[in-house]
Amino acid sequence: MSDYYEVLGVSRDASTEEIKRAYRKLARKLHPDVTDDPAAGERFKEVSQAYETLSNPDKRELYDRGGTQPGGAGFGPGFGFSDIMDAFFGGGATTSRGPASRTQRGQDALIRIEVDLADAAFGGTKEITVDTAVVCPTCQGSCCQPGTSPEACDICGGRGQVQRVVRSLLGQVMTTQPCPTCRGFGTVLPAPCLECSGEGRVRSRRPLTIRVPAGVSTGTRVQLAGQGEVGTAGGPAGDLYVEIVERPHPIFSRRGDDLHCTLEVPMTAAALGTVIPLETLEGDEVEIDVRPGAQAGDEVQLRGRGTEHLRGTGRGDLHVHLDVTTPRNLDAEQEELLRRLAELRGEARPAGRLSPAHQGVFSKLRDRITGR
Ligand SMILES: [Zn+2]
Ligand SMILES: [Zn+2]
Repeated sequence: MSDYYEVLGVSRDASTEEIKRAYRKLARKLHPDVTDDPAAGERFKEVSQAYETLSNPDKRELYDRGGTQPGGAGFGPGFGFSDIMDAFFGGGATTSRGPASRTQRGQDALIRIEVDLADAAFGGTKEITVDTAVVCPTCQGSCCQPGTSPEACDICGGRGQVQRVVRSLLGQVMTTQPCPTCRGFGTVLPAPCLECSGEGRVRSRRPLTIRVPAGVSTGTRVQLAGQGEVGTAGGPAGDLYVEIVERPHPIFSRRGDDLHCTLEVPMTAAALGTVIPLETLEGDEVEIDVRPGAQAGDEVQLRGRGTEHLRGTGRGDLHVHLDVTTPRNLDAEQEELLRRLAELRGEARPAGRLSPAHQGVFSKLRDRITGR
């Protein structure tokens, strides 16, 4: 058995690309259709066999290690007609298919909508207008002027493809191409609809009511099946994906399914303790119990007053962060009272004690930002 590398005239470390090039060159010279030399037929078989082995990395490795050659002369498994076509035309033979359908499913579409925090938290509806493709009102998707219908293409006989004879070194070779007259559809429109130019759909702006599920947040995509662009020639519509963008709220901020807000407590109320009314995001009035001696950065948690969970039931929590405010613009009497209080508490000239690192206002703020 001859050495495959010698047969193709390549070195033992030739790349697959070099092997391919060498094979193409030889095949053009030796193919039985090209030459009448009877010896060429045998040579061609040999060359093809060498190429079959060396062009396949697994087979090549086996061959290099001295493994036996599977299959005898001729084309073994895995070596198809297209390889030969490829050798001559560089593109491979097209496989035969039926005519293409005018009716295609419409494209999916993606839009973004801004929603208020309350709608994202508890659900709601939103009226929008989408720019999309709708069924042509004139032809109802038939693509034809009323009273006419598609007719079989004369050129391709309704197959959507035409065969063309190409002269080559091999002689005459048939290739298949989409029919240029019907563009591969197999039918022609004798009178295309004027409104949609024979596409069966037109661009339009369409109002749409979107139900926003409770618990969505920025980035959530809601899929509306069949609300995308309609397809061509009466094809089904694609889906519409609605991506939620949450509008920031002036009072409440959100982290996951929890809501956060800051409640200002006057210094005196913080010292003495009090009850402060607060309106929640959903508009309920609740009372925040401020205990005597409350500090700035203290937090009151209201369980189940956050946003709805998008999946499953229940709600997150509402975290009310207390901010103790210092009185400003004191009148003479108030100032006198505060001076008196400071004296009684020995705070007229405070020593200025530093808080431990993990207890001060700064550390509470940091914990709030990083989440604890
Ligand atoms: Zn139309
Ligand atoms: Zn045709």
